[in-house]
Amino acid sequence: MERIAIVGSGVIGLSVACRLAEYSNRDIQVTIISGQSPIETTSAVAAAYWAPYWIGSYNHAWASETLRELQQMADSANLSTGLSHCEFREWLDDAGREELLSVIDDVYWWRNLPGIRYELGTLEQPVNLELPKLGKFCFTSEVRFHSVVARMPDYLSYLSNRAMQSGRVAIERTWVDHLEPLLDSYDKVVNCTGWGAKKLVASDPETAAMRLMAGHVVRVETNALPQGLLLHRGPFKQRPLYIVPRHGTVDDVICGGTAIEIPGDMDPRKPFTFPVAETCNDIHDLCAAFSDVVATGSRCENLVGLRPVRSSLRLEKDPQHSRMVHCYGHGGSGLTLSWGSADEVMKLLDYV
Ligand SMILES: Cc1cc2nc3c(=O)[nH]c(=O)nc-3n(C[C@H](O)[C@H](O)[C@H](O)COP(=O)(O)OP(=O)(O)OC[C@H]3O[C@@H](n4cnc5c(N)ncnc54)[C@H](O)[C@@H]3O)c2cc1C
Repeated sequence: MERIAIVGSGVIGLSVACRLAEYSNRDIQVTIISGQSPIETTSAVAAAYWAPYWIGSYNHAWASETLRELQQMADSANLSTGLSHCEFREWLDDAGREELLSVIDDVYWWRNLPGIRYELGTLEQPVNLELPKLGKFCFTSEVRFHSVVARMPDYLSYLSNRAMQSGRVAIERTWVDHLEPLLDSYDKVVNCTGWGAKKLVASDPETAAMRLMAGHVVRVETNALPQGLLLHRGPFKQRPLYIVPRHGTVDDVICGGTAIEIPGDMDPRKPFTFPVAETCNDIHDLCAAFSDVVATGSRCENLVGLRPVRSSLRLEKDPQHSRMVHCYGHGGSGLTLSWGSADEVMKLLDYV
């Protein structure tokens, strides 16, 4: 029997665990080693919808394969997975429309994928808004597309149960200071430590330079879910506004957000020291200006997570240790690339 350690129990570690448990062609025993339980990870904070965002270079096939798999799971309408289909709108002013058109082929390569139904059209009536702290806007056009949304607490719990039910996976809750010693006890090691890799793999210069982009969100519970809305252009680039409705064990809305670079040497073992409440109040006010459902819903939680952004996602064998595979740096696209990444890990480990 081969023993495999997966370090990390976010969406990436758990997706890899499911793949290993369900598709490995050999007799294996998998141990997920993680300092945090799945619900405490960045993955649990994610909004989370399928669409590439805040990510360095990556293999597009990993994103499209993931979309296909998430769509199939959402089709089953099993609410315990936390997955559902959703139509999103992105509102644009005239400058935003120009900006979008200049990057559409490059950034929105995914718009023609099956099920996405991406359309850019003119709003029947322009939306004029004066937003606190951001000024006046006149939105004249909108993008519509369909995607899959994951209510991450449900989805992570579903993945975790799915992996455990195979009987080939166990979870050990502990922090790891160095990866190499694990090779003494395990035949293979998969590093899925997300932003924790910045400290753990500091010997890799690209990883030491990894940017940690904080995302603040507010969770609102409501009986009537709103439509999905996104604003990413102009002043919303660094301060994206998103309203993401999610079906699951409870229905809720994630209101976002931010993309603020956090300097220096954050330690995943310690609580965040940067301000959260004030930023989340701003987010809630802004989203409430766009949606009555948000304004009247029950505000439940302020959440913050760090997106690990490298110039390119790291998914490769360790150059010194061929029995170790690195799979981290998924930026704002961990869900979006999860199944495709897990399949690539399987290939690198020679399990398919
Ligand atoms: C506000 C926000 C919104 C987002 N929205 C989306 C979205 O809509 N769609 C999307 O695709 N993505 C989204 N993302 C990005 C997504 O959350 C991340 O890309 C994803 O969580 C990365 O997953 P991961 O498993 O690599 O890392 P994580 O979820 O961070 O998990 C890392 C794991 O490694 C463990 N670990 C780290 N260091 C150590 C160590 N030294 N020893 C032991 N264990 C360790 C941790 O405990 C944890 O279990 C969003 C992120 C944020 C913050």
